Amino acid sequence: MPLSHLKFNQNFIDTLPADSISDNYPRQVYKTSYSLTQPETFSNPKLIAYSLDAAAQLDINKSACQSKRFEEVFSGKNLLDGMKPYAMCYGGHQFGNWANQLGDGRAISLGDLTNSKSRKFCLQLKGAGATPYSRSGDGYAVLRSSIREFLCSEAMHYLGVPTTRALSLSLSGEKVYRDMMYDGNGDYEPGAIVCRTAPSFIRFGNFEILAARQELDLLKDLADFTINQHFSHLGKPCKEVYIKWFKEICKTTADMIVHWMRVGFVHGVMNTDNMSIHGLTIDYGPYGWLEDYDPDWTPNTTDASYHRYAYGQQAHIAHWNLVQFANSIYPLIEDTDELQKVLDFFGDYYLFESNKMMAQKLGWLNFKGESDDKIIKELLKILTLVETDMTLFFRNLAKLNHDINYKNIPDCLLDAYYSENDLNTNYIQKMSKWINSYINRCKEDNISQKDRAKNMNLINPKYVLRNYLAQLAIDKAHNQDYSMIHELLEVLKNPYTSQKGKDSFAQKRPDWAKDKAGCSMLSCSS
Ligand code: AMP
Ligand code: MG
Repeated sequence: MPLSHLKFNQNFIDTLPADSISDNYPRQVYKTSYSLTQPETFSNPKLIAYSLDAAAQLDINKSACQSKRFEEVFSGKNLLDGMKPYAMCYGGHQFGNWANQLGDGRAISLGDLTNSKSRKFCLQLKGAGATPYSRSGDGYAVLRSSIREFLCSEAMHYLGVPTTRALSLSLSGEKVYRDMMYDGNGDYEPGAIVCRTAPSFIRFGNFEILAARQELDLLKDLADFTINQHFSHLGKPCKEVYIKWFKEICKTTADMIVHWMRVGFVHGVMNTDNMSIHGLTIDYGPYGWLEDYDPDWTPNTTDASYHRYAYGQQAHIAHWNLVQFANSIYPLIEDTDELQKVLDFFGDYYLFESNKMMAQKLGWLNFKGESDDKIIKELLKILTLVETDMTLFFRNLAKLNHDINYKNIPDCLLDAYYSENDLNTNYIQKMSKWINSYINRCKEDNISQKDRAKNMNLINPKYVLRNYLAQLAIDKAHNQDYSMIHELLEVLKNPYTSQKGKDSFAQKRPDWAKDKAGCSMLSCSS
């Protein structure tokens, strides 16, 4: 359908009270959840990529995506009838500390729509200029971080990980100053805008700011709005429904983290303002993909000292964030025991789902309890002993032969090691012992080796957005060559299927990328 047929609604801004000040300057915004604001009109924006699949969800067809109008709308230059842009007010706990008002400092929601299948979407521009929530920021985003958000949100979707989607990636046509490594060696970089979609962009922090300010009527209004619009299957808002709602948020958040752990994704900035109320991966900043299996790894240079948001910490941090969210909705419920029960449920549910996921990664039909737990824990311990590529290891594990009693590291697994020199006798003994116990366990399921491999290949991806691949696409884009963005988007559409001629996208990190900024470490500057 052409763009002009899209029907936008203003439920969010119509239901919730408006900001009494309409001027666009950085300030504290009280007694409202949003401020109306306009995206900047860049004189010469240029569309460089779009996701046809994300467009199809909005009932936008290919010819509409290729139209001049699409480029204009999703760079903020010339909006569609019915769009009424706004920025949201939210707060958040950053790195464990209450940071007060944050808000959409460089995100502007254009409007909400319901597609032909009755699914709700909000469309939002990221990087289209300053809002009342920009604080000291400029409201812009640079090309490198926009490429990373565009590609990763789509890649995550195809991997089956709950996420916001990316519709389009445009150059703003302007340069933006950034000091990427915070070392005084800043530079001008191309500015860019991503249009992203989600049922809503409501975060834990939207509630936290209202509770912190004791704006309790508005807290209730926002909770009721969220439930009526997005969780109506739970019933009309009341104390019991708020608790059910919280339980659902715990569940979807746990599901999201289980997926992150499955595919080796590290968000990098799990602040409560980056936690979606829908359990979606949101705000792709200094995220990274595990290369070497190291639970303590964090891609975020800001987190280099504490590793608060390291791979292995993510479930624990999700729980911590849910505690903050529980505190913020406490005034609606006033029942600590009930909230605590739900928080405890998170732990049990996460453990159950995580065990199920690990059993699936290993190709087992189910998780059999203590004996399986032992095999899983032993493997995760061994994987930390030498530098082992997580993605390749699990993918190639499917190739093990049930009829061999392994005395060495199987050829199919060798590719997963960063240095074969690391494989000393002690390691080889440990790993081959583990492999044999693993194969014995596989045999207990009475499924053929072929079926086990088939199942495993549906859950252990071959292609992920390896940090260095994203960086290569960025380096090319800085030379006006956008081909790798398109090629990666195509390959990542089928992450579980071997694709002819695409082996270079499934290879472990090359040596040059080991300590290169953008590949192994990322700053929040984006
Ligand atoms: P993030 O760490 O990207 O989730 O951002 C944290 C907060 O900083 C959010 O409120 C963002 O909107 C805001 N922010 C980040 N970068 C900018 C920027 N360039 N201009 C304005 N606000 C920004
Ligand atoms: Mg954020």
